[in-house]
Amino acid sequence: MKKNRVLVTGGAGFIGSHLCDRLLADGNDVICVDNLFTGSKDNIRHLLENPYFEFIRHDVTQPLFVECDQIYNLACPASPKWYQKDPIYTFQTSVYGAMNCLGLAKRTGARILQASTSEIYGDPNIQPQPESYWGNVNTIGIRSCYDEGKRAAETLFFDYHRKHDVDIKVMRIFNTYGPRMDIGDGRVVSNFIVQALRGEDITIYGEGNQTRSFCYVDDLIEGMVRLMNSRDGFTGPVNIGNPGEFTIKKLAEIVIELTGSGSKLVYEPLPSDDPTHRKPLIDLAKKELNWEPHIQLREGLKRTIEYFSKVV
Ligand code: NAD
Ligand code: UDP
Repeated sequence: MKKNRVLVTGGAGFIGSHLCDRLLADGNDVICVDNLFTGSKDNIRHLLENPYFEFIRHDVTQPLFVECDQIYNLACPASPKWYQKDPIYTFQTSVYGAMNCLGLAKRTGARILQASTSEIYGDPNIQPQPESYWGNVNTIGIRSCYDEGKRAAETLFFDYHRKHDVDIKVMRIFNTYGPRMDIGDGRVVSNFIVQALRGEDITIYGEGNQTRSFCYVDDLIEGMVRLMNSRDGFTGPVNIGNPGEFTIKKLAEIVIELTGSGSKLVYEPLPSDDPTHRKPLIDLAKKELNWEPHIQLREGLKRTIEYFSKVV
């Protein structure tokens, strides 16, 4: 593969740091831009001495001037706990961050990939979700800052493409998990594993009948790199996720089994607008990217538990 100068916004986060690892392994020059809002230098500490890696502490709501061939735009808090902490800032990050990155792509001619989300489907009333589905999103709820921010970013991507011929790729990421998830960011996989390892109660919100489809981070990164390097003219949006669908209660039971934990399940109130089910249709990714996930939930959880058992 050609050596590129690749900018990764949000590169010190969970997914971003794995992406930086992969891009460096492929022989690229990597510029990681992050304001460490939810990310951490610990995620990229092993890269800081690499001469092909640069870290720039920068907030993507402000313009950035660097030279690059490819841009992956991942900067945005992703867990409900963090994106709801300062919802106006979350919206600004999605929208101004997208505009600043798109402006940079326009000036440099770089190809740009947006880390969009299955949240743009809201609480979907069709199952599984194809890319052609326009979604069922509350505009005024507690998740709206994230969902609508990401929807607006998709709009900006397609408008810059139509108006300014920017070379875009839009990826809709479904729930992703793996090593380097932040221990305290409240997402379900990290919460359950940490609770199980500590022998604490496992907190199920609602009755635990809501479903999610969990993709292991290595599979996701493969899909992301394939999308960035996909044929000219293929913009997406494309779903990248694992179609294996599990109830949250089932996930808790598997985590207890794999950790051998004595933790008990406890039930807490369901947050508002929590989607009742979510499962990607991935036919487009199979066709265009020849991609599908290979690491199924139990295997991915084992690897993630191994990581958390060292940091908990
Ligand atoms: P994360 O919180 O670990 O990473 C986000 C990174 O963005 C962090 O390092 C954070 O410090 C940085 N950031 C936030 N605001 C910033 C700003 N204004 N300027 C510069 N940097 C900023 O989350 P993640 O799970 O790695 O998610 C990465 C991307 O993938 C996000 O855009 C997220 O919306 C998207 N995504 C993730 C999932 C998932 O399940 N993990 C699902 C759908 C979409
Ligand atoms: N959830 C839960 N217990 C937790 C954390 C989350 O039952 O300790 C539920 C949450 O209500 C949601 C699902 O798990 O239904 C996934 O939550 P997460 O925050 O990981 O992702 P998202 O809701 O954004 O898909």
